Amino acid sequence: MADKDCLFCKISNGEIPSATIYEDNDFRVILDIAPASKGHALIIPKEHFQDIFDIDALTAGKLFSLATEVARAMKAVLHCDGMNIVQNNGLIAGQTVFHFHLHLIPRYEGDGVNLGWPQHEADAEANQELAREIRKRI
Ligand code: AMP
Ligand code: ZN
Repeated sequence: MADKDCLFCKISNGEIPSATIYEDNDFRVILDIAPASKGHALIIPKEHFQDIFDIDALTAGKLFSLATEVARAMKAVLHCDGMNIVQNNGLIAGQTVFHFHLHLIPRYEGDGVNLGWPQHEADAEANQELAREIRKRI
């Protein structure tokens, strides 16, 4: 269900113009208005899902399948050296538009894009216990 105040509902239905690189019944793929690197694209489902916790598996599957095609087309045009796929969920995770979207961020030598995080050594036993707990819910 479209949210009347949602920016990406308006962009995906064409109410707000965008630099569209692909569109079908379910998705619109656009270039980001403030790209991290040249060609930074967003895959947006037309239906309003807030985040990964809200989107259904079928749509998410179709979306990622489309991502493989878009990524290959982008690589052919942009001649990027690599690509990050990023998807933020929740304010704490850096989500600013609360309509599910997948970032495709082309990477180039010396582009200065920084997507890293500090890492800590895991406790092996605690990891096993945690894996057990989560496994039960899938
Ligand atoms: P996120 O922080 O993961 O929610 O990403 C939101 C992204 O949407 C950011 O990279 C913004 O630059 C991008 N964005 C915001 N408004 C627009 C717009 N009107 N057209 C294209 N991209 C946009
Ligand atoms: Zn929306």
